[in-house]
Order: sequence, then C-alpha cells, then structure tokens
Amino acid sequence: MEYISLIIIGFCMINEVFLLPEVIRIGGLFHPADDRQEIAFRYAVEKINNDRTILPRSKLSAQIERMSPQDSFHASKKVCHLLRSGVAAIFGPQSAHTASHVQSICDTMEIPHLETRWDYRLRRESCLVNLYPHPTTLSKAYVDLVKAWGWKSFTIIYENNEGLVRLQELLKAHGPYEFPITVRQLGEGSDYRPLLKQIKNSAESHVVLDCSTDRIYDVLKQAQQIGMMSDYHSYLITSLDLHCVDLEEFKYGGTNITAFRLVDPEGSDVRSIVKDWSLPTDNRNKKSDLDNNTFVKAETALMYDAVHLFAKALHDLDTSQQIDIKPLSCDAVDTWPHGYSLINYMKIVEMRGLTGVIKFDHQGFRSDFALDIIELNREGLKKIGTWNSTEGVNFTRTYGEVYTQIVEIIQNKTFVVTTILSSPYCMRKDSSEQLTGNAQYEGYAVDLIHEISRVLGFNYTIRLAPDGRYGSLNRQTKEWDGMIRELLDQKADLAIADLTITYDREQAVDFTMPFMNLGISILYRKPIKQPPNLFSFLSPLSLDVWIYMATAYLGVSVLLFILARFSPYEWDNPHPCNNEPDVLENQFTLLNSLWFTIGSLMQQGSDIAPKAVSTRMVAGMWWFFTLIMISSYTANLAAFLTVERMDSPIESAEDLAKQTRIKYGALRDGSTAAFFRDSNFSTYQRMWSFMESAKPTVFTSSNKEGVEKVVKGKGSYAFLMESTSIEYVIERNCELTQVGGMLDSKGYGIAMPPNSPFRTAISGAILKLQEEGKLHILKTRWWKEKRGGGACRDETTKTSSTANELGLANVGGVFVVLMGGMGVACVIAVCEFVWKSRKVAVEERISLCAEMASELRTALKCQHSTKQSQNCAGSNSKAIRQNQINSYNSYGFIGKGQLA
Ligand code: GLU
Repeated sequence: MEYISLIIIGFCMINEVFLLPEVIRIGGLFHPADDRQEIAFRYAVEKINNDRTILPRSKLSAQIERMSPQDSFHASKKVCHLLRSGVAAIFGPQSAHTASHVQSICDTMEIPHLETRWDYRLRRESCLVNLYPHPTTLSKAYVDLVKAWGWKSFTIIYENNEGLVRLQELLKAHGPYEFPITVRQLGEGSDYRPLLKQIKNSAESHVVLDCSTDRIYDVLKQAQQIGMMSDYHSYLITSLDLHCVDLEEFKYGGTNITAFRLVDPEGSDVRSIVKDWSLPTDNRNKKSDLDNNTFVKAETALMYDAVHLFAKALHDLDTSQQIDIKPLSCDAVDTWPHGYSLINYMKIVEMRGLTGVIKFDHQGFRSDFALDIIELNREGLKKIGTWNSTEGVNFTRTYGEVYTQIVEIIQNKTFVVTTILSSPYCMRKDSSEQLTGNAQYEGYAVDLIHEISRVLGFNYTIRLAPDGRYGSLNRQTKEWDGMIRELLDQKADLAIADLTITYDREQAVDFTMPFMNLGISILYRKPIKQPPNLFSFLSPLSLDVWIYMATAYLGVSVLLFILARFSPYEWDNPHPCNNEPDVLENQFTLLNSLWFTIGSLMQQGSDIAPKAVSTRMVAGMWWFFTLIMISSYTANLAAFLTVERMDSPIESAEDLAKQTRIKYGALRDGSTAAFFRDSNFSTYQRMWSFMESAKPTVFTSSNKEGVEKVVKGKGSYAFLMESTSIEYVIERNCELTQVGGMLDSKGYGIAMPPNSPFRTAISGAILKLQEEGKLHILKTRWWKEKRGGGACRDETTKTSSTANELGLANVGGVFVVLMGGMGVACVIAVCEFVWKSRKVAVEERISLCAEMASELRTALKCQHSTKQSQNCAGSNSKAIRQNQINSYNSYGFIGKGQLA
C-alpha cells in the first residue's frame, strides 16, 4: 500500500515538473554599448541549457531586443513585443532612462524584471530583483576603507549627481572637521588639468575619484601630466571595474591607486567561464589579457549571475506550483500570476555566482556580498584585502609583504634630500677644488643619509632649502616655509637636519622615528673666577653649622657645670691631709666648664679632668663631637683651598626669568621659540613675553648668530638652544658653557611629505643604525673629533670639580650623638646624686628626702664652688683620698678664697 502511494506521489511530482514548458523564453533588453552583457546573457542561457542540472527538463530561449539608451518610447514598445511573445522574465536594460519605463510595465504585468545596474532608488514592492550591490552598502565600504587608512582630509572628484549619492556616506562620516573634505566636479570636456592643478596646489594628496570607468584613464593620465601621480598621492577609485582600465602607464609611478572589485577576473572559475565569451570565434585566439579582463565588468558578470538566479528560482518554484507561461498584451490589463512568486523565490535563493554569494536581505537588496580591495603595483592590480558588510575591511597582505614591496620601490629611486647649513649637521666641505653635487657637503646629516641609503639601496641628491629655514607655519597665511615647505610642494622627498619633531610639523608632514634625543638648555659664557676671600676659612661649614656649633658649645659647657654640681663625686676635699674637712670643693665652676670645652674643641686640653661618671660622659661625648667636626672641617677646608671659586649669575632658566639684566633669546621661528610661545608654565610664559618685547630683538636667524651674540655679549646675553648644539659649541668654544639642565625632551627626525610610503622603511633603517652603534659613531665623529672637537676637554674637567660647604645635612648626625650623650650624662648624674644621698642619709640617720633636699640646696647655690662636708671620714677610702690629694695638687689654681 505504502509503495503504491509513493509511486503516486512521485508520478504527481514528475507530472508537475512536466507542467513547466519545454522552452521558456526570457527577454533581454540591451543598448548597443552593452554588447558584453548581451554575450554574457546569451552565454548564461547556453550554459544552463547544456548543463541540465539547473533546469533538467526545460530549455531557456533568449529573446534579445536592442535599443537606444535614451529612447524610452521604443523601450516600452520592445518590452510589449517581448511580453507578447510570452517571456517569463525581462533582463536589463542598463540605462536609467529606459529602465524605469521597463520597470513600470513589468510591475503592471507582474513579469519579473532582473536588473544588474547601479540604482539608488528603494523599490521594495516592485516586481524587481537588482543584483548590483545597493549604493548605501557600497558607500559604507568606501567609508570603511578611508577610515582604515586614517585619511584625515581628501578631495572627492565626481562626475555627476549619481556620484554624490554614491559618496553620501563618506561625506556624512567625515563631517565638518578640522580638515574639510573638498568636493570637485569633473567638467564636461575632456581637459581635466585645470581642476587637477587646483587640487595639486591645495597640497591634497588623497583623492576619491568617482567617474565612469571610461574616463578613469584620461583623468589619471592628466593627473600624471601635472605631477599628481607621485609616491605621495593616493587615489581611491569608486568604480568596481578598475581592472578593465589600462593602467600600464601608472604601474611604476609609485602612486597608490586602490579600488574595490566585485568579480575577480583572475579567479579560476571566472577564467574558465569567461574564456569562451569574448569576441567572435575567429578572433578568440588573438585577444589579449586586457581584452579578456574588459569582459569581466561587474555588470557583465552580474548579468550572467542574474540568468542563473532566475533559472534556479524557476526550478524551485516549479517544485511547488504549476507554472504556465502565456503571452501578455500591453493593451489588455493582463498579469502573469507567477510573477511575484518567482520574484519572492529569487529573493530567498542563496547561490554562488561569478560575483560571489548571491543573497538578498528582507528588503530585497543584495546582502552578504564581499568585495576585493585591489591596489596597483608593478605587476598590475593585486588583491590586498577584502571587505564585507559584517566585518568591514580586512587587509590580507602581511606587514612583511608591504615592507618588501616598499623596499623594492625604494631601490630604484633617487630621493631629493632637502637640508640647511647648520653645524655639525650639514656644512660646506673645505676644499681647494671646486666641488659639485653631494660632495659639496659634509656633516652628521650627510653621513646619516649616506648610511640609510646604504641600508635601503637608494640614491639621493642633496639640495639646500632656498630660504635656509627649518620650517614654521605662518599663522595668518597658514603657509609653511623652510624645509617643510619643500616637502609639501613635493620638491624634496626627505628633509634631514637638526629638524625637531613637533606637533605642528607632524600634522603637516610625516616624521620617522627620532635619530637623536635632546632638550632645550641655556648657552652662556663660563662663570668668572672669584678672587680669594679674606674669610674663606669659614667656607667649609655652612652658617647653620657654625651657629649650631656655637650653641652646642654653650649648651655643653652649662650642662657640664650643672652636672658637676649635682654629682657628689665632683666635690673634693681641698686639704687632702685633713681627713675630715669642713668644706668640699668643686672644680667645675662656670668659667672652668667653658674653658674645658673650648680647650677640647681647639684640640688643646685644659688642666681640668672630670671625675664623676656623668661629667666624664659629657666630656667624652664632647670630645667625640669635636673629633668629627674638626676632621670634617679640615677635610673640606683642603678642598676649598684647592678649588677655584666660580661666580655665575644664572644657574637655571628660573634665574634667567627672575632678572632682566641678562638678555636672552632663541632662534627665530624654531622649535625652541615655539616651545616658549606655546608653554603653559608661568616661568616660560614670562620668558616668552620678555623675549617678544625685547628691543632690539633677541631672536637670531641661525644658531651661529646666537652663539656669536653670547660670545660678544660677555655675560649680557644667554641663548636658548638645543642641548646637542650646545654640546657641539662648548666642545670648541671654551668661553661658553651650558647652564642648568634641559627644559624639555624631544628628538630630531627625518621628515617626508605626508602620506609617504617610505616612512616605515626609513624608520627601520634608523633603528638598525642605532642598534649597530653607527649613530653613536657618527655623533662622536662630528662632535668630538672633526672640525676642532675636543678643544675644551681639559677645561671641562677642571671646572667640573667643585667643593661645597658642609651643611647640617652632612654633619647633623654628630649633633644628635652629642645631644644623646648629654641626656645619658644627666641620667647618670641623677643616679649618682640619689646613691650618695642615700648613703649619707643612712650614716646620718636622717631621711633620704631630707638629705637630698639639703644636697640640692647646696648644689643650687651657683655662686659657690665649695660646700660643707658632711661625713668625709666614713666614706674615704685610702685610694679616694690619695686621688683627692692628687686632684687637689693638680687643680691648685682653685682660689683659696673659695675655701670656707
Ligand atoms: N631644531 C630646531 C627646529 O627644528 C631649530 C633650533 C631651535 O629652535 O633651537 O626648529
């Protein structure tokens, strides 16, 4: 039973397929210029008929009508004629004039209309399928590419209004930024040179060219004639058919010409299909590659894909409903019932064609298609990446490939190198013979370019910038001068000198990575030698230290005096023979204490010796203090006596800013002057106002003039100069020196015109030279060896040794130790006092407090150095006594009057 039902279903299906007519007519409308599309159309029909997989049981029959692109009346007639013959779909035409008429008839009769032309109108409800990518999507591709390149400014050259529509997104995406986009229209005639010249004069190097494929060659050719096809120019061509243009003459210019393409004429499937199209059979063998390529215009390939799309959709529709095709008359309001179904099928079909994946979004626009990004190089157009609507731009070339390609280009080039005469970067060579060309110059920059040229293998010609300036922007005219101007005018390819990389310059030109680092500093005359000072013996210690020492002396003396009074062991028997004296004597009167300490300080001693532990502690600490202080003083004094004292009125930029006696200036319009002009730091702002308002001017036209001014100024002029140049000058001119450190940090770089493709390669060469130590060798050669280098080396070493007075920071520790010792001595004195009082209190049988109070009273009577003996006998051992006798003898100077 199941078998029977399956057979019936199968039979029905076969029956349904059989309902599709054996011959299905499709109409093609072509203009005389569209012969290639006509060939593609015919070939697609032939291919489908031969290859029975798409439409196994039917054959397509191509009904072709030709007409003028402007004649919409005849176009309508031709469509009606096709409809009368019973066509299932109409393909073409390409012209917008006729296509809209054809479209409205097809909409009315509900006949599928397949277009392959650029059309920006949104006609979602129509009985239409357009295989050409929608302009909005294409426009997004241009935006993505321009963003990926990071173009800041560019000029759009367009041919007609359609071009503006095509580039609408690009115009929107950039908006009115700092760098406005210039939009220019190609004139009607065939001479585009005036327009191109204007673009060239605006120093624009990025161009988006939107014109018909036929005009691309002429525009590029004329651009080449006026010098707009250099290494620094980039063209983005919006046509999808750049491969159909003869670009042979532009391959070697180095210009970056890029475009998108929908179909890859080199692709194996495209080649295999396209090889049979072309010209009539007898001419097939003669066709060149270019001829072959011209056949693969996007619209031609799209026509081929359109026929396949139609066939596939028809086949799919055939499996779901019964289709009959009937002749329709334009006079009767008649429609084809399967028209919209077929269109809907076409919109849901997904297939691969010559133009990649053919798929439509819900609005009926082609989606998910990919474009190749192609670039012109020496071998012709090469694919360098892809674009698709989801991922955007994806460059497929590796960094290494790009680098190798650039290095290959460089090897055949002769660069024009602009520079200025500035020692030691570029100087005229001294020679008895007349020198020409590069041989006229020598210096660091000359050697550097020579080394770089050896690494990369290019030739070069050195030319001096006519105005001899580095390059500054005139804020009124917005024009650059000097070497930067030379680069912008593309009169030079490289600028090598002591050219500082600055923000403003980086906006205008490209810089390599720095080959030398430096900062701004001050060039001034050397400090004058000071005559010896009468009181120079005070110099080794700072004033603070002298004051602290005096205070320490007084403090220690007073403390010694006090502790000696407190300490019972400092009270002696004045008459050693009398074992029970009535009075005791203390040798540390205030005067004796002062004498004792000064004696130690002066390393002389005084016949007084402390006996108690506390006073000995004081004395010991004081001796330690004097030991350190005296040795420090002696050592520093020796240094002070051997070093010549120099007097420099300025030590830093702050010192310069604070005064007005010494004038200071910089190179006019150089990066140093710009640093002060643009600085937000108050000191530098003050310095800039001073420099600007100074009369006569403090600015110079060259570094050389600045150096001369410093020499002639004899201390009345300081020149703000870059540290590397200062280094060079002070190696040779021994009167001059660098004052203070660097005010900033920056570098010199090699500049090149904006958008230069050689920047990476030249930066790489600089890095290589740096790593090999070549840059260091060059620096030593031109700074220290050649042209009188090293003349001031001895002087430099002599003046570099200086002696500084010792401050509290150097010797403060000794004071701390002294104070600590004094503290310990006080504690010991208290212990001695309590110990002795306790002993006496026990012997005398009085309370400790009473004894301590009585002892304290005696000690505080400052005017007396004697006191009543309380009990000498009990405490006197023989040794002590003997000691006391000795002491007495030795301290015999104690006035008798002091004895009670
Ligand atoms: N290197 C500076 C420049 O590129 C010139 C010297 C200076 O300003 O001190 O502008």
